[in-house]
Amino acid sequence: MRRRAFVTSSLAFAAVGLSVRSRTAYAGQSDDEFDPASATARGQALRVLLGRGDARAIDGSTFWFRGRRYRGTFSYAAGGGRVVSVVPLEQYLYSVVPREMPPSWPFAALAAQAIAARTYVLQRSNPRREYDVVPSEVDQVYTGIDAENPASTGAVDRTAGAVLRFDGSFAQAVYSSCCGGHTESSADAWGGAPLSYLGGVICPYCTASPWYRWSRSFHARRLRAAFGSKIAALGPLRSINIAERDASGRARYVDIAGADGAFRSEGSAFRLAVGPRILPSLLLVSIAFAGDPAQAGARVAIEGGGLGHGVGLCQWGARGMAVAGASADTILNFYFPGTHVGDD
Ligand SMILES: [Zn+2]
Repeated sequence: MRRRAFVTSSLAFAAVGLSVRSRTAYAGQSDDEFDPASATARGQALRVLLGRGDARAIDGSTFWFRGRRYRGTFSYAAGGGRVVSVVPLEQYLYSVVPREMPPSWPFAALAAQAIAARTYVLQRSNPRREYDVVPSEVDQVYTGIDAENPASTGAVDRTAGAVLRFDGSFAQAVYSSCCGGHTESSADAWGGAPLSYLGGVICPYCTASPWYRWSRSFHARRLRAAFGSKIAALGPLRSINIAERDASGRARYVDIAGADGAFRSEGSAFRLAVGPRILPSLLLVSIAFAGDPAQAGARVAIEGGGLGHGVGLCQWGARGMAVAGASADTILNFYFPGTHVGDD
């Protein structure tokens, strides 16, 4: 519970400390006066770093920035023209949920997404920074009022204040599009200590996704562009293999061999070097040269599955579970075992 008090206090403090132009539910309260027990997530103010540009107030609760309308108020971060939006958390979610999940998806999936997005933000907020989140995939996509949709807004409203908890703290409620059949452990994806609720689960619910299985091929010279002298030193190329997989089946290492040697790349570095657009995920079923790899025009052929890092909630899986009648709580319990949904 200490973590909860810390974060809610910090949000309130942030809202007060950021700017006199920011008007929030907590304006005028000092950190000491703030009582987290009396607050709900609905009333939290969130700081979103929108970036450089001119913002213009429309009225007391909306403003324009780069041709888009946003809820909340704004201020400028110290040391330059970066605009920071201060917006009630629930109103921020009105725009995030439809950007992160199609509003046409079933209610329980949208509700699970809303709870995950709400928890992510509360878990992520850091009073030592000038902002809590950025409006892109780095955190969550947030583009203001025009993205809002009644179905998503309904899911936010009907789950207002609900968060995912583990052992008294906010869970790390991360998510990605399609896991391809097995979610990834956070430790394998990003390092750090294993988390029991982010260890990865078998997911039979995302098979309807267009990303469940995919095929890709790319010119072998892309390997040279990606890895430079490390590939050139191998001489004429001979083979490319998955050297090791983690428990979810994702490639931990990829080996590339040539006449004069071999080179091992970590899976994540391989995906980054080749490009995330070519490799939607690291769940590689197979990888091989198509044709003679020593010849000009040789290609690398890859069969794989899933889209994204695969850790936490599988969004297409949430859709599949919702279609089958599962509730948002059931969906979240499945992808984050040992957690529970509770009020902030
Ligand atoms: Zn899945």
